[in-house]
Amino acid sequence: MPLYEFYCSKCEKKYEELCSSALNSVQCPSCGKEAKKVFSLFQTGSGSSGGGTASSGCGG
Ligand SMILES: [Zn+2]
Repeated sequence: MPLYEFYCSKCEKKYEELCSSALNSVQCPSCGKEAKKVFSLFQTGSGSSGGGTASSGCGG
């Protein structure tokens, strides 16, 4: 299951949530307000040469 990061503007904190679907926002676990989803830094574009991590699957 993919891990997404959510940022609450009220608490000014980030939260990690496991979401199966692409949600735009979740409820803040601290204050209950709407927390917006933020893009993770470790998520890099696929199909680019010079990747760090090796992915298993079909390859040349
Ligand atoms: Zn909050």
